[in-house]
Formats: sequence, structure tokens, C-alpha cells
Amino acid sequence: MHIVQMGMEHDVLRENSKIAHSNYRLLKNHGIKCVELMGSIGSGKTALIIKLAERLRAKGVRSCAVAGDVTGEDDYRRMRESGLDAVNCNTGRECHLDANMVRKVLEQIDLDSYDVIFIENVGNLVCPADFPLGADYRVVVVSTTEGDDMVRKHHDIFIHSDVAVLNKVDIADAVDVDPDVIAGDYRRLTGGLKEIYRCSVKTEQGLGGILSALDL
Ligand code: MG
Ligand code: ZN
Repeated sequence: MHIVQMGMEHDVLRENSKIAHSNYRLLKNHGIKCVELMGSIGSGKTALIIKLAERLRAKGVRSCAVAGDVTGEDDYRRMRESGLDAVNCNTGRECHLDANMVRKVLEQIDLDSYDVIFIENVGNLVCPADFPLGADYRVVVVSTTEGDDMVRKHHDIFIHSDVAVLNKVDIADAVDVDPDVIAGDYRRLTGGLKEIYRCSVKTEQGLGGILSALDL
């Protein structure tokens, strides 16, 4: 029984990966750069997307966002209220987006109207790692309020991400967290090759570095 289940899971992941490749090609055919954000609820994914999109808008770059959540449209509303075009994507029960859900959302978007699409995954640091969606960049966002052990507890999502962001560095002292510890864990995990991007979405420090990391 266990082996059968493992086999099914393998098929699910293989099918997801096929659709993700097709999403990637669809986006490329329309000249769109796609950035996926993963991270816990409260890490600041929505706020980061809104701020990055504002900076892009100032440069004449047109963005659209996909707000992934299990239920509700809170993030979608926040995005729209900020002036960012957005599409809501409720998974119903699933704790992550998959490539097929994203495909259906992309089919509702006029892809020729945008240069960049941000996809906010469901707040979860575990299974989104296994389900690529077809983005150019996968970004993991953690915040100092989550403690200094996030990298040690969630290796997979950091390994599956192209860019890692540590948000809320402005309040690190207040929550008794040393950003250097998190940065050191990430550096070790990536064999000394990568640095975590430190920022505060609230004070806007570090946002320029994140845009550069995304080639935006
Ligand atoms: Mg959010
Ligand atoms: Zn999940």
C-alpha cells in the first residue's frame, strides 16, 4: 500500500512539472517575467509584492499579481486597493498552489498587458517546494518575527528557491532575533554561494537589492 501511494505521488509531481514547463513557455511567448513568492502567513509576501510592483510601475513596468490562498480574498483586495492588477486564486483545501491551478489563472489574464506576473503562494513553508509553477524566480520570504531557526527547520524550501529574503529586519532587536544567525545558516546551506537578502518592507530598506536579484 505504501509503495502504491509513493507511486501516485511521483505521478502527481511529474504531471505538475510538465504543466509548469508549459506555463513557463506560455509566459515566455508573451515576454513575461514571472516571480513566485513562498513563505509563512505573516512573513510579508503580499506587502513585498505591492512594494515591488509600485517601484516597477514608476519605471513603466506593468505588473499583475496572483493571490493564492486556501480561502478568502484578503490579499487580493489589498493588492487591488494598492492599484495593482490582481487575480484571486483559492485552492479550496490544498495548502499549496500547483501548476494546473496557475494555468487556469493565466488563461484569465490578458498576458499581452503585462511585463511581470507575481504569484503569491499559499502561506506554507513545506509543500510549495515540491510544486514548481513555471516561474523564472522562486523567492522564499521569512521574517525575523518567525525566529532565528527558519533556515534550519525548512531546508527544502530554501534549497528550491532562487532568492531568499529576510523581512522585518527593522524589528529584529525587538523580537530578540539576530539576522546574522539566519544569514549564516543560509550561507552554509548554499555552500557559501548565496546570501539572504535582508529587508524591511515597512521601512523600504533593501528593496532595491531584491529587484536587482530578480533582474527587474
Ligand atoms: Mg499574503
Ligand atoms: Zn500543500
